[in-house]
Amino acid sequence: LTGFVGFANLPNQWHRKSVRKGFSFNVMVVGESGLGKSTLVNTLFNTSLYPPKEQKQPSLDFAPTTVAIQSISADIEENGVRLRLNVIDTPGFGDFVNNNESWRPIVENIEQRFDAYLDAENKVNRMNIVDNRIHACVYFIQPTGHSLKPLDIEVMRRLHTKVNLIPVIAKADTLTDEEVLSFKARILSDIKHQGIQIFEGPRYELDDEETIAENQEIMSKVPFAVVGANAEVSTPEGRKVRGRKYPWGIIEVDNEDHCDFAKLRQMLIRTHMEELKEHTNNTLYENYRSDKLESMGM
Ligand code: GDP
Ligand code: MG
Repeated sequence: LTGFVGFANLPNQWHRKSVRKGFSFNVMVVGESGLGKSTLVNTLFNTSLYPPKEQKQPSLDFAPTTVAIQSISADIEENGVRLRLNVIDTPGFGDFVNNNESWRPIVENIEQRFDAYLDAENKVNRMNIVDNRIHACVYFIQPTGHSLKPLDIEVMRRLHTKVNLIPVIAKADTLTDEEVLSFKARILSDIKHQGIQIFEGPRYELDDEETIAENQEIMSKVPFAVVGANAEVSTPEGRKVRGRKYPWGIIEVDNEDHCDFAKLRQMLIRTHMEELKEHTNNTLYENYRSDKLESMGM
């Protein structure tokens, strides 16, 4: 795998702005405990990103329980463009007898980031505001093959007005291809029925056909069926791949015929990054800001 990310090829105007500022992209992972969130974060960092400078690589074979909201960062540079990617890992929920409030610390964290940005905007010197707002929230769904759980619906409802929600089917290697397809359809119909707004991708009118086709191909995979793995395994042909080994074969994390991990990564840090940031700023943050000012009587 190459370390190529491709953000240096983003549209010109945005590109120039970004070069000047240096920019950050913040992704949060949310979902029940044990669904592979921390593993996927490690998988993301071990493939597409250069090792964080002066920072240890996340350990490969050790996934400690996440107990607090924590952030892992990497600086990437491509053709002179600097990008800081921050992935915010949240403690899983669902383990408690009463999970009614399990969304609260996550929503509070998202709102604190909006508040910090609002404060910075109100300062006299508004140059170089660090943007710590969450630009994408990857929501992990248990691979039951049935339907969304009441807890998923509750949490997604709390989140969807505050972040770009990107639902994923966790541990997709535990389902067959047919099960994945029917589960995807079921999840999408549940989401629609519940009035939950998920990230829908850009609708640029000016894009060339190739870009439009690429975007459609990516969005057609939502909810992405993901598999995380931090170990390399050998295929029968002797290739070394990152994947999970079963008696019947190997699921390769980076193989698009096996799962949608590569598509998710491509969407986040290449094709849809700009759209995710703009929707966060222009719609999600703007709504939060105007509600807040209104509630303060301003
Ligand atoms: P978290 O609580 O959501 O952060 O979950 P972890 O990343 O700590 O993973 C929980 C367990 O699931 C660990 O034993 C992982 O090895 C395993 N796991 C993680 N990702 C996958 C996956 O894609 N497929 C399978 N089968 N197991 C996974
Ligand atoms: Mg974890």
